[in-house]
Amino acid sequence: MSAHRSHENRPGESAAHTRTRLIHGRGRSGKWDYDHHVVPPISSSATFRLDSAARGARGFEQFAHGDTPPGEHPIYIYDRLDEPTRAMLEENLAYAERGDFALCFASGMAAISAALATLMRAGDNLVAHKVLYGCTYSLLTNWLPRLDMQARLVDLTDPASIAQTADRRTRVVYFETPVNPDMTLIDIAAVRSAVDRLNVRRSADERIEIVVDNTFASPFCQRPLELGADVSCTSLTKAIGGFGTDIGGAVIGPGRLRDALLMYRKDFGGVLSPKAAWATLVYGLPSLAARMANYQKSAMRVARFLEEHPKVRRVRYPGLESFPQRELAHRQMLDEHGRFAPGSMLYFVLKDADERGESGARLIDWIAQNSYCITLAVSLGQVKTLIECPYSMTHAALPEEAKRQRGIEPGGIRLSVGLEDWHDLVADLQAALDAV
Ligand SMILES: *Cc1c(COP(=O)(O)O)cnc(C)c1O
Repeated sequence: MSAHRSHENRPGESAAHTRTRLIHGRGRSGKWDYDHHVVPPISSSATFRLDSAARGARGFEQFAHGDTPPGEHPIYIYDRLDEPTRAMLEENLAYAERGDFALCFASGMAAISAALATLMRAGDNLVAHKVLYGCTYSLLTNWLPRLDMQARLVDLTDPASIAQTADRRTRVVYFETPVNPDMTLIDIAAVRSAVDRLNVRRSADERIEIVVDNTFASPFCQRPLELGADVSCTSLTKAIGGFGTDIGGAVIGPGRLRDALLMYRKDFGGVLSPKAAWATLVYGLPSLAARMANYQKSAMRVARFLEEHPKVRRVRYPGLESFPQRELAHRQMLDEHGRFAPGSMLYFVLKDADERGESGARLIDWIAQNSYCITLAVSLGQVKTLIECPYSMTHAALPEEAKRQRGIEPGGIRLSVGLEDWHDLVADLQAALDAV
């Protein structure tokens, strides 16, 4: 232990704002006994030396059995169980999302599937919003049924649909807000009230848990656990990772679920690698607030430009006055100071002669070939602005009929606004719109 005052004892930590806290973390973490690194070291050890058989036995005994006893360092055994770089990221993610714990997985999908598999058993069902990220839709409709778990897809913008659909075997209500890709919002507090009314008659292990995918908003714009969700899932690949170098996911939730998720992760094995954790810990999370504040300023400019353009039929961005769920957006999408935080994602549709959406496809192709600062690529939340067509790309897993019924039209375009000067983004979009 060095002579200088350890960060843990500095009075500033508890008063610090989130953006400060995510840069400095706990400063000196109990997850790693270093004291002079300014940047946390990257650990790269699949296995850990144990001083005695007794220490090894204690490590296995303590794993997934509550917190490390006060004053002790965790006993690391093997990367897949727990390891220090990832554990430090988890400490900071739990703080960002205001949960008791965070656990990191190899991808966003690994995190979502872990959360559902831990909460559900064969014979159970979940109620989910009818529009979901394509891979989540496929998980719910192709894979859960093989495990004898059923997904009941409803319109969760009407929370009454939960009571109409749920039965004794319903364990989870699942949704994204904003919904990928159409930017519909689901009222987390209203879902909480609807689920509470059902849970009063249920024992603890029968109760329905609310799981929210917070990927689109990121914890900068929205903290589902504060709004009434039980569990928040997120793809670290997107806004939190921010630079597009690594793939990862996280589950954040209440202490009562931590040990079961740790056991699940140990045995199913989809753990986040420490190298990916390090990039997210050192670059992604500390810059989230600065990036998101800039993304959303530019997103507002771009959304206004598109809305006024004669070739655009409609734009969905929670920051616009025309946004259909404006009141909910202002209630739910807030930064930690309570300022409106509509995020970096928008969805728009061009005017078209018919329903085939060909002008949208032409716009995307023109951008792919000619645009300097807008890139045709899936993913989102990165420093680079990305554009894609959900109908045929990220949401291809949804059946044709389902997409049409659910308002995902062939010509719909999803835009993730990055850190470029917004004038350059508008110039590229203007040129593309002129050309189609
Ligand atoms: C990308 C995405 C996921 C999946 O995350 P991966 O890290 O790609 O596995 C889940 N939900 C939403 C809303 C996403 O956009």
